Amino acid sequence: MSRMAQTATAPSALTEQSITSTFHIEVMDDLETSRPTLSLSTDPTLGDLQVVTAAQVVAKAVEQHRLIDKAVRLALDYEAATAAPAPEPHAWTIADRDSGLPLNVTCMSRCNGFHPERADGMARADSVNCTQYDTANPTELLINGGAEEFGGYATLSVEIHSDPVHPDPAKRVPVASIEVVEDHYVEDLDPDALAVVIDKLQERVTAMHVRHADLVRIRNEHARQQA
Ligand SMILES: [Zn+2]
Repeated sequence: MSRMAQTATAPSALTEQSITSTFHIEVMDDLETSRPTLSLSTDPTLGDLQVVTAAQVVAKAVEQHRLIDKAVRLALDYEAATAAPAPEPHAWTIADRDSGLPLNVTCMSRCNGFHPERADGMARADSVNCTQYDTANPTELLINGGAEEFGGYATLSVEIHSDPVHPDPAKRVPVASIEVVEDHYVEDLDPDALAVVIDKLQERVTAMHVRHADLVRIRNEHARQQA
C-alpha cells in the first residue's frame, strides 16, 4: 500500500535515472623515460586510464559537457515536475480594434509582459503579444565597447513569446527568442531547436578554450621574439 501511495504522489513525467560524469586528466612523468605523459579517464575507478593527445581531451570534453547538460536538464525537469502549479493565467478584456467587439485575452502562463494595449482599451487581435523576459540573465558583454556605464549588454537572454489571441492559432503557441545582442534576435525556436542552439554554444565555449591556449602560446612566442 505504501508503494501505491508513493506512485500516486510521484511526478508522472519522471522516471528513475542517474547521470554520472567522470573526467579525470593527469600529467605524470613516465617511469622509464621520465618524460611527462598526458592521460585521460572517464571511469570512476580510472579503469580506462590511457595516454591521449590534447585534441582527444578536447573531443572528450565536448561529450562530457553534453552529459553535464543532460544532468542539469534532469534536475530542471525534476524541479518543474515537483514545483507548485503555475499561477492562474491572467484574463482581461479589451475591444477588438477591427470589429469593436470584446476581445477576451488570457495571458500566456507566467507572462511578465507590459501589455500597453490594456491602457489603450483596444488592440488588433494579431498585435497582442505576451512575453516572459529573461530577467535573471547575468551575462553582460561590452560589445563594440558600448554600454560600459551599465556593465555591458545583457547577452544571450532567452525570451518566451506568444500572441495569445492571434487569428492564426499557430502564432498562439509560445516560442523562444534568443536576444543574441540587445536588439538582435534569433526567433521562433521550438524546444528542440532551442536545445540544438544551446549544444552549439557549449561546443563553441570548449573551442574557445583551444583559442585561448593558442593566444597564450602566440603571445609567449611574441614576447620571446621581442626579448
Ligand atoms: Zn501577457
